[in-house]
Amino acid sequence: MANIIDGKALAEQIRNSIKQKVAKLKKKPGLAVVMVGEHPASKVYVNFKAKACEEVGFHSEEHKLPEDATEARVLQVIDQLNRDTNIHGILVQLPLPKHINEKNIQAAVSPSKDVDGFHPYNEGRLLIGDPTFIPCTPKGIIKLINSTGMQILGKNVAIVGKSNIVGKPISILLLNMGATITVCHRETKDLGGMTRQADILIVAAGKPGLISAEMVKEHAIVIDVGVNRVNDKVVGDVDFETVKEKAGFITPVPGGVGPMTIACLLENTLEAYERMEERKS
Ligand code: NAD
Repeated sequence: MANIIDGKALAEQIRNSIKQKVAKLKKKPGLAVVMVGEHPASKVYVNFKAKACEEVGFHSEEHKLPEDATEARVLQVIDQLNRDTNIHGILVQLPLPKHINEKNIQAAVSPSKDVDGFHPYNEGRLLIGDPTFIPCTPKGIIKLINSTGMQILGKNVAIVGKSNIVGKPISILLLNMGATITVCHRETKDLGGMTRQADILIVAAGKPGLISAEMVKEHAIVIDVGVNRVNDKVVGDVDFETVKEKAGFITPVPGGVGPMTIACLLENTLEAYERMEERKS
């Protein structure tokens, strides 16, 4: 039976270490979250983020705009936050309403406050192996893999999902760390044939039950990024009960990747703060 990777406990360790560092600072690191519209899941995530900020001693603010806010209005709010010296990190909660161009908004955030790592400049730095801000979910995944003690160098990794926020950045990070990467997606033929080769399997598709035990290599590390609501329960993309009998390590949902994403957001905000304060001195 697999070892369960306790993302909740690991995230708590990270938060505690941040809290101790913040207690020694003269000024509080500040995170601003911009939310457009009333997406129910986004509201939950924004509340989690605000609570996490409070717990470690950060200043946090929410900028809520109505669903019909224009792109120009959102850009105006970001421009104000870019200039605000009390704000070190800016996060635009996704998804945005359809009439707003996500890439325009992400490109408007100052690269030095882009704690999500979605600005094209920061995406480019990640690609060449010299990252400034590593996107929060991929950063959390690396920490979860490292917590198993397995070396990444030379391993076969399969990633299911090729989104700009999870699948693509985690594939680049692991490639730069010396793993051999297969990125699978909706059009991939013989998904199981790909995933069965993987020493490390990362699943970020948003499809409950997508990965069954037959699709997993014995003793593999399985990282389940999926968050799906099924009959009022939150489940991942991996059939946890059967896969845990075959894998070497597995993350649960909830309690795996989710808390690590938030802990890494706090870590990135502290990094942004430190870089900004260093520049001043
Ligand atoms: P997305 O929703 O933008 O895209 C899904 C990806 O999965 C696509 O690349 C698609 O091709 C692929 N896919 C879908 N069905 C597939 C199938 N049957 N076979 C193979 N590939 C398939 O991706 P996202 O925004 O990265 O989100 C993926 C999941 O991860 C969602 O459940 C989301 O809620 C969750 N998520 C969790 C966290 C966290 O912190 N826990 C963070 C981000 C996303």
